[in-house]
Parts: sequence; C-alpha cells; structure tokens
Amino acid sequence: TVFDQIEKKEDRVHAYLDLYKKEAYTRAKQVEKGIADGTYTGPLAGVPIAVKDNICVQGKPATCASKILEGFEPQYQAEVIDRLEKAGMIIIGKTNMDEFAMGSTTETSAYGITRNPWNLEHVPGGSSGGSCAAVAAGEAYMALGSDTGGSIRQPSSFCGVTGLKPTYGTVSRYGLIAYASSLDQIGPVGKDVADCAALLQVIAGHDPKDSTSQKREDLNFMEALNGKITGMKFGVPKEYLAEGIDPEVKAAFMEVLKTLTELGAIVEFFSVKTMEYMIPAYYIIASAEASSNLERFDGVKYGYRAKEYEGLHDMYKRSRTEGFGEEVKRRIMLGSFVLSSGYYDAYYLKALRTKALIKQEFNQAFEKYDVLLAPAAPYTAPKIGESLKDPLAMYLGDIYTVAVNLCGLPGISVPCGKDHTGLPIGVQMIGDCFMEKKILRAAHAYE
Ligand code: GLN
Repeated sequence: TVFDQIEKKEDRVHAYLDLYKKEAYTRAKQVEKGIADGTYTGPLAGVPIAVKDNICVQGKPATCASKILEGFEPQYQAEVIDRLEKAGMIIIGKTNMDEFAMGSTTETSAYGITRNPWNLEHVPGGSSGGSCAAVAAGEAYMALGSDTGGSIRQPSSFCGVTGLKPTYGTVSRYGLIAYASSLDQIGPVGKDVADCAALLQVIAGHDPKDSTSQKREDLNFMEALNGKITGMKFGVPKEYLAEGIDPEVKAAFMEVLKTLTELGAIVEFFSVKTMEYMIPAYYIIASAEASSNLERFDGVKYGYRAKEYEGLHDMYKRSRTEGFGEEVKRRIMLGSFVLSSGYYDAYYLKALRTKALIKQEFNQAFEKYDVLLAPAAPYTAPKIGESLKDPLAMYLGDIYTVAVNLCGLPGISVPCGKDHTGLPIGVQMIGDCFMEKKILRAAHAYE
C-alpha cells in the first residue's frame, strides 16, 4: 500500500505535512462496502489521494505551509474535497508546499523542505512539490495541486510525473486558500495522462459557490484518450528555445517534436513577441492580488498570534511580522507598491494591458494550431539551497509556465526524458481555453 512506501521513504522525502493513516483504513473499509452495494461506481473509488495543504479539508489543519496559519482548522471544506469523497477516493494526507504557494522549490515552507525522490540533494520543484514528490515516490497514487504560475506543471516535470493545470474556471476554487485569485486553479497530479484525465473528471464541473466557475458540458475527459493525433497541428514558440535553456532540456524537447512528427502530427515553429513581458506581468499581477488576499491573516480570528504586543495595531504588526516568511513578505510589499495610488497606472494597469497583449498573441496562435508545445522549465531540478540565494533568478525560471495562467489556458506537463544525472525532464502541452481534451489526447498519444 501507499503507507508501506510512506513508511519506507517519508523520513527522507518529507512530502507530507499531515497523514491520516487510521482514518484512511477505516474509510477504505467503508468504500469497499460502497463499491459492493453500488454507492461508488467510478473508476477512482478506493484510490488513495494526497491533497496540497492550501486546500481545506473540514476538521483537518490547513497551514499553506505558513506559520501564520498554525493551528487553523477550517470549519468547511473545499468543493473538490466533496467531489473526491463522492467518488469514493481516500484522502491520505496533506502535502508540503511553498508558503502560500509562492515559490518554485518547496523550500519556503515554514515546516521544512521536501526532497526530490529521484535525488535527495535536489528540490522537487514547487509550489506543489509535496504533491508531486508523493506521487513520484509512490507515497500516493494521485494528488491534488494548485497552479497559479506553474506550480503543478513545473514540479511535475522535476519529479517525473504528469500534472495538469485546467482552464480557469473548470475546477472550483471554493475552499482553496487564495494566492492570486484570477490565476489560481486546482488540478490533478498522477503517474500518467490517464490518471490525470480520470481525476480531472472527478473534480471538474460548475460550482455556484465559486463566482468564476464555468458551466461546461464536455467533462468526459477519459473519452479523449483515443490515441489519434494524425494531422493534429502543434505550434512551437521559437523564442522559447533561443536562450537561457539548458542544452539537455532543449535536446529532450527536440526529441519530442520528432516523436510527434513520427506519430503523424504536424509540428511548426512560430514567433512570440511578448515573451520578455510574461514574467514581469505575472509577478506584478500575482503579487498585487496576493497582497490583497493575505490581508485577512491578522492574528485576530484564527491562526498565529504574537505572544507579546502593545495594543491592536502592534498585535497585527507583530503577528504578521512573525507569522509570514521572507518570500511572502516580499510579495506583499511588491503587491502593495504596485497597487498604491502613485504607481497603480505605471505598474499594475500596465501589467493588465500587457496581459491582454499576451492573450491576443495566444489567441492568434490557436487560430493556427491545436496545441502549443513548450518546455515545462528551462532546467532540471536545482540543488537544495541554490534557488533561495537569488529570488529574481528563481522568478525567471517560471518563463514557460506563467503565460498559461495569465491567459486562463489549460496546460499539461508530461515526462519526456532525463538529464545526464538522471533527473527528469518534462514537456508542456498547452491548449486553447476549454480544450483539455486536445492536450490530454496529444499527451496520451505521446507518452
Ligand atoms: N513560482 C511561481 C510563483 O512563485 C508560481 C507559483 C504557483 O503557481 N503557485 O508565483
């Protein structure tokens, strides 16, 4: 069982913040009965699943890997958790992440780092590093992650698993503790494309509790896995391969293009003019929204409160100073700055306009292509400790993933090779809005 793997590996990997072994076994017995009497009919009934710690499960701690949410137990639970339960899935624990999903390495967690199961000296990626490491280590069959700027796709690529970020509005955000609300999406992590399709089918669908939730009808994602990609048109932004990409990652990516051509697909290069604006636009918008979303953590209603303070304002100040980590504070400051009256037009508004231009370019690309291809990340998993030294360099590592969130598009990361040290490499397939089936079909035919 997964708990045998957890027993064997968790000491070294540290994918989880919390485990529910006893409850999982009790629930497994119930589900077994439920399968026998026809309560649970879906293919995922009885499958153990790990959940990222920014998704609320009623009565279980949800920390977002932050000290400020220490001791917080939500009184309600996320819509996705209700759906997992209805499908008969078994929640086995909450996974580690970058604090409030801000980061690319799972090193900003207040509760210790997670290690990459392929090489314990390296990071698993982030921010859903715990979820992806758990699946890679066999400590979970599947997991839920969240993706605001790449946090499902990049760690999936670093850990050699498959992860999908759905079209914005496909999966309910109700009960997902917000980082940047206009970009956040919950999505599936699994060992292969079929697992992701099956899990997406369970969690997707309209939810009146999330005002940005879409009413979609085409939710039978497993149906898409028919292996047919003859004549499918793939576009590759040529600027993505120009500079800053590790030669081994590039070589693996070029092999993917070859394989797809051999499978009967048409692969073409095209030009993207907005590439250099993607990272700045993303970090301005994400930080702006984060600064507003994180205002609610004030030490009053729940979570961490400073032990000593003088008066109300001092309590807010000290609780937030002590409760938030360095990266989170950096984003709150950046976000407050770009939203402040003197700089709003120069930064925030400009970033929104830039986002519209990026969206326009992607719209044009999807007039010609079914699927766009990109590396998931410019390099394989960095060594532990390397990325924290230079936050700006870490931000630049998100170059291939953030545009997908800015444009609300679906994207999947699939393993496509290894570097000379044996660390996994992933390829990203990006679809137009609501075209999950196309990228699932393409990824399934490729893998
Ligand atoms: N690395 C990006 C960031 O730090 C993306 C994180 C995410 O998708 N949650 O914002």
